[in-house]
Parts: sequence; C-alpha cells; structure tokens
Amino acid sequence: MSIVSDMLIGGEWLPGSSRLPVHDPSDGSVISEIAVASEIECEAAVTAAADAQPSWAATAPRQRGEILRRAFELMTAEAEYLAELISKENGKVLADARGEVTYAAEFFRWFSEEAVRTPGDYREAPNGDKRILVTHYPIGPSLLITPWNFPAAMATRKLGPALAAGCTTILKPATETALTALAIVDILQRAGVPAGVVNVILPQPVGENINRILHDPRIRSLSFTGSTAVGSILLRQGADRVIRCSMELGGNAPFLVLSDADVDAAVTGAMLAKMRNGGAACTAANRFFVARNVEAEFTEKFASAMGKLRLGPGVHPDTDLGALVSNYERDKVADLVSDAVAAGATAVVGGSTPEGLGAFYPATVLAGVAQDAAILNSEIFGPVAPIVTVDSDDEAIELANNTNFGLISYVYSGNLGRALKAAERIESGMVALNRGVISDPAAPFGGVKMSGLGREGGFDGIHEFLEKKYIGFDL
Ligand code: ADP
Repeated sequence: MSIVSDMLIGGEWLPGSSRLPVHDPSDGSVISEIAVASEIECEAAVTAAADAQPSWAATAPRQRGEILRRAFELMTAEAEYLAELISKENGKVLADARGEVTYAAEFFRWFSEEAVRTPGDYREAPNGDKRILVTHYPIGPSLLITPWNFPAAMATRKLGPALAAGCTTILKPATETALTALAIVDILQRAGVPAGVVNVILPQPVGENINRILHDPRIRSLSFTGSTAVGSILLRQGADRVIRCSMELGGNAPFLVLSDADVDAAVTGAMLAKMRNGGAACTAANRFFVARNVEAEFTEKFASAMGKLRLGPGVHPDTDLGALVSNYERDKVADLVSDAVAAGATAVVGGSTPEGLGAFYPATVLAGVAQDAAILNSEIFGPVAPIVTVDSDDEAIELANNTNFGLISYVYSGNLGRALKAAERIESGMVALNRGVISDPAAPFGGVKMSGLGREGGFDGIHEFLEKKYIGFDL
C-alpha cells in the first residue's frame, strides 16, 4: 500500500500548491508531506459537497449502507497497514493502534446498519383534528473536524453517521495525523462513495479558513472533536448562521475507588482507563479518588504495574508505552508533573523526562496530591495518574463533580447498588462501573457541562446529521 498524502475534492486527489510534513514523534523524522488547501480549495470543497448533496440524499439508504459496509470490510482487510500508519504518525503502541482500527471500522459497520433505521411516526392528534406525520431528512453538507489522538476512530465516528444519514462531508483532520484520515477517505472512495460526497482538506491557516467555511450558507452542520477552547470558538462562529453543532470536547475523568472495591480489579481497570493511548484520550482517567482504607494497597499495586511499562517507539513489538504526539505535548505533561511535585505531591514512579530524542514521557503515579492541586483541573493527556485520598463516597463524588467537565467517570465498588448510586450522582455523560473501557460504537458517546453537545455512536449518532420534519394534515 502506498501512503495517500493529497487532498480529495469532488472525487479528485489534488497535490495542492504547498505541502506540510507529517512527523514520526518517536524520532522526529518526516513520514510524508501532505497537501495544504488554500482558500480557493476550501471553497471548491464546499462547492463539491453542496453539488453532491441532492443525489446523495436521494441515494437509497440501503445503498448508502452497503458502501459503508464495504468500507468496513476494506478497513478490516487493511487493518495491519492502518495500525502501523497510526502508530507511526501518532506515536501510540501497535496494540493500541490495532485496537483503534477495530473500533474505528466498527463505526462503519454500525452505521451501515443504522442507515436503514431512521423511523418516523404517524398518529392522530390528541384532539382528533389532524394527523401528525414525523419524518427525517439529511441536514446537508457537514464539516467534520477531528483531532490527532484517535486519527482513525474520530474520522469514522463522524463519517459513518453523516454518510448513513445522507449528508455530504468535508473532513478536516489534525495535521499531526492526517495520513490516517487520508487513508480512510481513500478506503471510502474504493468502497464506492460518489464524487463530492466525501472531501478532505488540510487548510492553512486553519482558523481563518474554517471560519470562512462556517460562514458559507451551503454548510449546514459542524461536528467537532477537540479541545474545549477551540470548540467554543467554533460554536461562536457557527452561531452567526445558527449551524447545528455537535461537540466532543475535553474531559477530566474521575476514577473512584470506593472502600469496598476489589483493589486488583481496580488496578487492572486503572491501567486501561489511564493508559489506553498512552493517556492521550479525552476519556482518560485524570483524577484518582481513592478511599483511605485501600489507598496504600491501590497506590503500590498501580505504581508497580505502571513501572513495568517499557517506553519506546510505538511500532516496536516490545514497547508498552509509545511517544506522545509531539515534544510540545510532552513538555505540557512534564510541566504539570513538576508543578504538582512542587506543590507537595510525591512521584511514586516516573516523574521525569528521559534523556534523548523523541517525545517520550514515562508512566507516572503521583501520590499525596492535594484536593485543590492544579493538576486536578487540567486535562493531562499523558501517562500521569494523580491520586487523592478520600474519606467517604460523598467526598469522592463531591470532588468528582468539582470540575467544568463531564465526559466520563469510572467507579469501582464491590456493591452494585452503591456503585449505581455513585453513577447517578456523578455529573458525566458516561459512567464505567467496574470497567476500565466502555467506548462502543453501539452506545451513545458524549459529555455534559463543558465536555460537549450531542452524542456520537449508538442510536443517537445518526440523528446529529438528520433534521426532523413534522407534517400535519387532515385525512
Ligand atoms: P488538540 O488539543 O486535540 O490538538 P485542538 O482543539 O487544538 O485539540 O484541535 C482539534 C482539531 O481542531 C484539529 O483538527 C485542529 O487542527 C483543529 N483546530 C485547531 N484550531 C482551530 C481553529 N481555530 N478553527 C478550526 N479548527 C481548529
């Protein structure tokens, strides 16, 4: 397979007039150079998506579903190639990259099945004066913006439902990991997506060009995954034309270990919740609130497991923890740890940047973190676990809710009723009970508070790209 590095507009792969390098963060080498979209090419992408919209909306749902099904099959057949590409440009270990490809492909399968399931309803009005008919139609050309941490899954989680719903799309992936997104778009082309239905651009400068696209009246929706800071800028821009906005933003996930938890199970869950993707996930456990009676045992076992992780290039088979996506991200993580240690926390394991090339940071457990420590208010996005000791479920829940974010929470307890009670009281869109990972294309993914708007996946995902229409009439 050869690396795809051009942009796709109206079914044509275009080299662009300038190129940007994509780096391997484990050694800084250049993997490839991607096509940069100018203002004219951004405009052309909008025109292509708008022109293709009527015929794509008129394509039978089954046919749209079958294209997605073929894309799922191609992704599955080419999984190893995609996993290596992800690992190379993102830095994550191959095992994580393979897991991501499976997860990402499932969005195409799930939405190939959902394409034919958008029921409406037909009923009599309560006062008998008319019939109420409710139906759905595609919202229209949609702009999809994705981040670098899950370069395949964030793209398929948006492309899958948009295409199933009958919307044409313009994908704007993160430049750091654009090669994976381009490879997925290439798969969609080979699966039979008609020209103009999927376009992919990497505009520079990003902000100005995206702003212009969001002010084009032909664009009807925006689906964004990324930081809350950029998400709220885009919400303001989208507000001018009252564009439908779906937002998957930052997280600050609490991980509660209640006093009756099975500590070994909690450590296994913590390793998954913290270390999937090397900690670079909006779902990553960011704050550990651990009951005093189990704190020492949990910290010791967790630190021991973290200390065993071997740091190295993600593509090496004996690496457990790869590089962060860039030196910039690595330095952000290192600064958060130094500040926490200066404020009184202890690094039980890890805690310092290794010498040498590459954006590496070791698995780190911080014990004795103060309840008001700054690290508890920052999305770490790296392999660092701050532990805070708590004296009751109430205290843990209060601390868990003491954040502007509410994407996901983790609760470990030996008693289902007690765990469910905590789950109901925690302010987050998702709660994992006695599990370290719950993301599933068949379940609604999304946050409350400043973690976002809307849901992706599950039965809700396709509705982000559908409008509802009510038709009232007399028989
Ligand atoms: P992260 O912290 O994951 O890099 P960002 O929010 O910075 O999150 O980036 C997520 C996506 O948003 C990327 O594709 C990035 O290029 C894009 N992006 C960043 N700034 C802007 C902006 N001002 N307007 C539109 N998109 C942007």
